[in-house]
Amino acid sequence: MKEVDVVGAGLAGAEAAWQLAKRGIKVRLFEMRPKKFTPAHQTPLFAELVCSNSLGGINLDNAAGLLKEELRFLDSLVIKVADRNRVPAGNALAVDRNLFAEEVTLRLSHHPLIEVIREEVVDINPERVTVIASGPLTSKALAENLKKYLESDYLYFFDAVAPIVAGESLDMEKLFFAGRYQQDKDYLNAPMNEEEYQRFYEALITAERHPLKPFEKDIYYEGCLPIEVIASRGKDTLRFGPLKPKGIIDPRTGKEPYAVVQLRRENLAGDYYNLVGFQTNLTWKEQNRVFRLIPGLENAEFIRFGVMHKNTFINSPALLTPYLNLKKYPRLFFAGQITGGEGYVAAIATGAWAGIAASGMFGKMPEPLPETTMLGGLIRYLNTAPVDNFQPMGVNFGLVKPLDRKIKNKKERYKLLAERSLKDLKRWLAVNG
Ligand code: FAD
Repeated sequence: MKEVDVVGAGLAGAEAAWQLAKRGIKVRLFEMRPKKFTPAHQTPLFAELVCSNSLGGINLDNAAGLLKEELRFLDSLVIKVADRNRVPAGNALAVDRNLFAEEVTLRLSHHPLIEVIREEVVDINPERVTVIASGPLTSKALAENLKKYLESDYLYFFDAVAPIVAGESLDMEKLFFAGRYQQDKDYLNAPMNEEEYQRFYEALITAERHPLKPFEKDIYYEGCLPIEVIASRGKDTLRFGPLKPKGIIDPRTGKEPYAVVQLRRENLAGDYYNLVGFQTNLTWKEQNRVFRLIPGLENAEFIRFGVMHKNTFINSPALLTPYLNLKKYPRLFFAGQITGGEGYVAAIATGAWAGIAASGMFGKMPEPLPETTMLGGLIRYLNTAPVDNFQPMGVNFGLVKPLDRKIKNKKERYKLLAERSLKDLKRWLAVNG
């Protein structure tokens, strides 16, 4: 029988159920609320937005804007309902969260091919085609049982992510490549003198932080503290920790600087660098202000901000195929934040793709999505990111296959990337229906 189980009616599960049903597949949609709530959800509604009511930018030269447009091409229910329940928010798509979630709930509950089952799923049957979209706050019993199919080391319970900046936005005049004790030249170093360090330190310890939810307070462990917490333990703790200058010689002075921020390549091309040891709970606005006090980073473009929060996610590059199903258990698909695709729109998008791909189990699998699309680029990241240190990623233009020629102007480049994406997606749809 053509039937798929979807676990979790959040953003990803709701979209996956819709994509399956619209392809004539019967869906059993399991949602544990209201019998059992996650620590962040407050209503029994599907597609509840747990924090902000914004689904990000609307313009096509904005990564979330392009991804939403691609989802409209894929006839996404969740984006359609978001568009219908929009509230004024400038260049962003923000929604009335209750009207939005109510409409998604109604549309799915009344769909003739969707049976809603309000129960916690505690285990999975690997023989049934299933989309697991239980989110960053997957219930404990299910997370425990999922380990059977994932090899336990590949399920994580929080992320501690340092910010990533675009290489082209760095002032290379102020930075130098060197390794500690001249071992190699893999790191880009931002040297600070005493005055620069003081300024940075003061800004860091007084900067505004994200308030922690009660369930997030227990996630720190000593080996992975937020940089502002290390700093608040004493004026010099950073100089003995992530900003340690020992063994790093500035070629311009021939000496060790007072303090050094190290940046590590995120990709081979050196387009992106992460700030080593800078996992943080500062608000994004404050990261923009404080981290730009680092010499050489005055105009840094942040591709991803640092975060630390509770987040159940799997090691997708080790486990998943480009269809988001397990290599070892091909009937089990994953969607949403649990794949490591970060943010509301990425959750909806991976939900759409997992739903489309899972429907292929009853006929013909679709061709993989073009890597020139934002969604295709995100899937490629989930398949090819480093297995050793896999971390969730929000959508950004760095995920999309670069253009054949170099375009310096960022707006112009993003516009061309967006045009190419939609053209290629149209072509893909013509073949794959
Ligand atoms: P969810 O939307 O969480 O859906 C998962 C669903 O599965 C839930 O309905 C849950 O009740 C259900 N479920 C869980 N376990 C089971 C089970 N065993 N059986 C049955 N049902 C189950 N992203 C942003 O872009 N902006 C933000 O402001 C933002 N804020 C966030 C705040 C918090 C506290 C967290 C944790 C994440 C936040 N995110 C944010 C990240 C992410 O975009 C959201 O978590 C998003 O809701 C993920 O979508 P999802 O479908 O993967 O999971």
